[in-house]
Amino acid sequence: SNATSPILKVSGLTKRFGGLTAVNEVSFSVNNGQIFTVIGPNGAGKSTLFKLIGGFIRPSEGDIRFEDRSLVGMQPHDIARLGVVRTFQETTIFREMTTRETVETAFHLQCKASSFGAFFNSRQARADDAEARRCTDAILKLLRLDHVQHEQAKNLPHGYLRSLGIAMAMAARPRILLLDEPFAGMNPEETDAAVEMVRRIRDQGITIMLVEHDMRAVMRISDRIAVINFGRKIAEGSPHDIQNDPAVIDAYLGQ
Ligand code: ADP
Ligand code: MG
Repeated sequence: SNATSPILKVSGLTKRFGGLTAVNEVSFSVNNGQIFTVIGPNGAGKSTLFKLIGGFIRPSEGDIRFEDRSLVGMQPHDIARLGVVRTFQETTIFREMTTRETVETAFHLQCKASSFGAFFNSRQARADDAEARRCTDAILKLLRLDHVQHEQAKNLPHGYLRSLGIAMAMAARPRILLLDEPFAGMNPEETDAAVEMVRRIRDQGITIMLVEHDMRAVMRISDRIAVINFGRKIAEGSPHDIQNDPAVIDAYLGQ
């Protein structure tokens, strides 16, 4: 696939919760290799959009296509297996495990999910162990977690736990990685480091889709930005376009 082909295409996506339309006829395409950001004020529908893409909730209307297939109606683990992966919540990390064990476990969970036959073949299982170690080494380096690889998760500072959640997602071999507010609660230095980390992941050929509340944080990192407000897409374009769009300025000043 080339750099300008869409990897993910959302069309006319709508989600109603009773009388509330949380996502309202939203359409956009994420190109392969891009960092695509959805921004919007609190309650705009960003997390709902992610839950729809990940298959955790079903749309009321519309379609979500990953490459040439529709994800609508698929189970979250099947969507993840295709390569549409979101980060793990910190609360799902086993606190007694070390950083390395956590990533290796995530890698094995993915292998088991994708191929029971291979798992029960012992020779294949040994090969998978070696592959898991190599893959884990690469992920730990990329996310700057190698120097805490033997620390138990419960002893890691908050910022490291967040990186570990991303490391677990990386072990699932994403084609497109979904990050829900990766910079939330970070100070400027932490945000800088996280921005660099997201770029390094993208440089591995992984498409990134992130949702963020903080408009300033995403301006440096995004190739393309879609803005949603009250469930509707109100603008889409380059960071430069978005910063100068009166509808976007209104939505944020109105908060
Ligand atoms: P954001 O992530 O942009 O802050 P959300 O997607 O979490 O916004 O929420 C969008 C709107 O949908 C909010 O008004 C929220 O209260 C509502 N909402 C989200 N999930 C549910 C749900 N499961 N049931 C009812 N309303 C929901
Ligand atoms: Mg949210």
